[in-house]
Amino acid sequence: QGPVIIAGAGHAGFQLAASLRQNGFSERIALVNDEGHLPYQRPPLSKAYLKGTGGPDTLMFRPEKFYHDQTVDLIADRVTSIDRAARKLALASGASLDYGHLVLATGARNRLLDIPNANLDGVRYLRTLDDSEALRHRIASGQHVIVIGAGFIGLEFAATARAKGLEVDVVELAARVMARAVTAEISEFSQSQHAAAGIRIHFGVQVTSIENDGGRVTGVSLSDGRHLQADLVVVGVGVLPNVELAAEAGLPVAAGIIVDELLLTADPNISAVGDCALYASPRFGGSLRLESVQNATDHARSVAARLTGDAKPYDGLPWFWSDQGPDKLQMVGLTTGYDQVVVRGDRGAGAFSAFCYKSGRLLGIESVNRAGDHMFGRRLLAANRSITPEQAADASFDLKGALT
Ligand code: FAD
Repeated sequence: QGPVIIAGAGHAGFQLAASLRQNGFSERIALVNDEGHLPYQRPPLSKAYLKGTGGPDTLMFRPEKFYHDQTVDLIADRVTSIDRAARKLALASGASLDYGHLVLATGARNRLLDIPNANLDGVRYLRTLDDSEALRHRIASGQHVIVIGAGFIGLEFAATARAKGLEVDVVELAARVMARAVTAEISEFSQSQHAAAGIRIHFGVQVTSIENDGGRVTGVSLSDGRHLQADLVVVGVGVLPNVELAAEAGLPVAAGIIVDELLLTADPNISAVGDCALYASPRFGGSLRLESVQNATDHARSVAARLTGDAKPYDGLPWFWSDQGPDKLQMVGLTTGYDQVVVRGDRGAGAFSAFCYKSGRLLGIESVNRAGDHMFGRRLLAANRSITPEQAADASFDLKGALT
């Protein structure tokens, strides 16, 4: 079938190259990497790496030798266009690459703030190693940071900055933290933990402009007329999938690059995986675009299997984690659309799970410091099974026993 070229060397791109070789794929693999670092893990960028002292090498999936040994061509360049008829890619350097199969693993980029002075140097985002590196330095010398957006990345960053001794204010338009992603039970717990750490969260307001003194950030103005002081602003208001390459090549895109159950685009020679892919999910019966390591790596494994002769619809079970201060939040399944939430464990002791149900059937579990519940959920939901809400609520009910 000819060479496999992978555009983007993030979690999905790296995993795809590694899995193809693991599965015995013997033709050329080229991984086009536009980031100027060996492929690396993103989750630590807002957690351990931001807090710690280790160098970039601690984040790399594999050392350089791996790519050499596995004959994966790691090409430091950027794909700029796709000629589908000729099966040829143009690169930013002016070079071109022929493909037998092309995999778009272009990920997502930060949604930018569109308010006055948002382009000042003291307004920062967090997506790449370079972003995290710059923020490490700013945290070391900063005193007061304002975080815009109380989503996962905003809160992880806030917890780290606070642990480093900075004053932290978080500004969130919604009425609770992580409102789009978790139940009110988890939001409430998280809010009280952040408040106990000394982080102030302002709900129901928006930042309307960045204030500055000769270009140096001094604070923000809020939609309710207040002003907050700061020497650093960190923006975490979500991401946009990188679909332009696909769209310009005439492939259908919507809230992501549209792919079918096999993760194939409308062109049988082009797949899309990871954060950029809007895929048809047999498990959930609709289109999904997820932003998680699980989604990126499982997509990659599924496409690698297909390209080495084992084509199956992708049916991965979503799961995710977020470390915020001392707390580990873990989620499995998709909890949107629930009509009943059952709490298991001890909220007061900071270790509990929210079991989310729809019409009596378990949709997913959100856990705080309850890894056992999370692992249980991964096994139960992967087998398309459920336990009743009464069983979930009953502390004496044996979860392990329910798996046998
Ligand atoms: P990416 O990792 O974004 O990789 C895409 C790559 O493609 C990038 O390197 C990009 O520069 C490159 N690219 C784009 N266009 C081109 C082009 N035209 N040519 C060549 N290259 C191109 N997930 C979790 O499950 N748990 C967590 O705790 C967690 N924490 C996170 C913390 C942070 C700070 C961030 C930013 C993300 C976190 N995530 C977490 C999300 C997770 O990292 C992403 O879902 C995952 O990286 C998606 O992988 P991907 O390969 O699809 O995209």
